[in-house]
Amino acid sequence: MSGGECVKVCVRCRPLNSKEKGDNRSTILEVDQKTGLVTLHNPKGDEPPKNFTFDISFDWNVTQKEVYDIVARPIVNSVADGYNGTIFAYGQTGTGKTHTMEGAPTPELQGIIPNCFDHVFEIVNSSAGTKQWMVRASYLEIYNEEVRDLLSKDPKSKLELKEHKEGGVYVKGLNAFVVKGVPELKNVLEVGRKNRSVGATAMNQDSSRSHSIFTITIETIENTQAQPDGHIRVGKLNLVDLAGSERQDKTGATGDRLKEATKINLSLSALGNVISALVDGKSGHVPYRDSKLTRLLQDSLGGNTKTIMCANMGPADWNYDETLSTLRYANRAKNI
Ligand code: ADP
Ligand code: MG
Repeated sequence: MSGGECVKVCVRCRPLNSKEKGDNRSTILEVDQKTGLVTLHNPKGDEPPKNFTFDISFDWNVTQKEVYDIVARPIVNSVADGYNGTIFAYGQTGTGKTHTMEGAPTPELQGIIPNCFDHVFEIVNSSAGTKQWMVRASYLEIYNEEVRDLLSKDPKSKLELKEHKEGGVYVKGLNAFVVKGVPELKNVLEVGRKNRSVGATAMNQDSSRSHSIFTITIETIENTQAQPDGHIRVGKLNLVDLAGSERQDKTGATGDRLKEATKINLSLSALGNVISALVDGKSGHVPYRDSKLTRLLQDSLGGNTKTIMCANMGPADWNYDETLSTLRYANRAKNI
């Protein structure tokens, strides 16, 4: 399997919000879910519309359940079979990354992460007789190129990335909790969410400057009499809510904020470079080492793994530049 076949790109456009409606903002995006065609109109009308086509394109009417079934379900099934998989939410702050990944705590509005919890334990419970299962969860954040354990008693302390002798990168000292069911997974998510980095002033959007990675590891052993020393299969699922992709220099950041901003831009462009190298498949070199994010996810990007990038956008005219930049980023990650 070449890298490109395992990388998919999806775009999702949220509805106009009440502020945008109140301000009479116009919708500048058209999404054709059947063909995957997305058309972006220039609000000033001085440039022709720009067209992009993606593997999957969702408009503002898509439900959380549809997103789960199309984007995540196949990946979770393959993780239960012992493969690695990664789902990224990309986009400007306020476009729906966290809505897509976490959503709201009702059955209809819950996002990919809680839907994964339900799905994983459906799989576990339906084959409990034939297999032994162990499910573990960890939750970390990368903030300013520093790795922090969101499940630690001391979530601000930095953890190091280490390499195994046989290759493979891991986070030294990262907590991974064995979980027996959906309520325990929900509890892990809740504990970690409370520990996410919050900007110094109320004006700063809390989690928009860090990448968070919720990882579910699934180990299985077949219960067959014929194979007493049956081998262990391990699959790892990474659910990644990326930092906001807005141009950080526009926000007038200085000092620490500017330092954060530079690092966010750097890691998002490193991720874009890795994905486009995987999709391209021709260049032998994949630049995993250029950021903590890509180093950490090295064994879950490319090779025998499935990756999906879900790029989130707003439909309103005032976001034209950012939306164009998101469409271009997503377009680079496409398997042509
Ligand atoms: P981000 O994580 O990208 O900063 P959020 O997920 O927090 O953005 O979304 C910003 C706001 O828009 C939230 O109030 C969220 O509930 C709402 N929202 C985002 N996407 C959708 C959607 N598809 N449908 C309805 N509301 C949405
Ligand atoms: Mg968010």
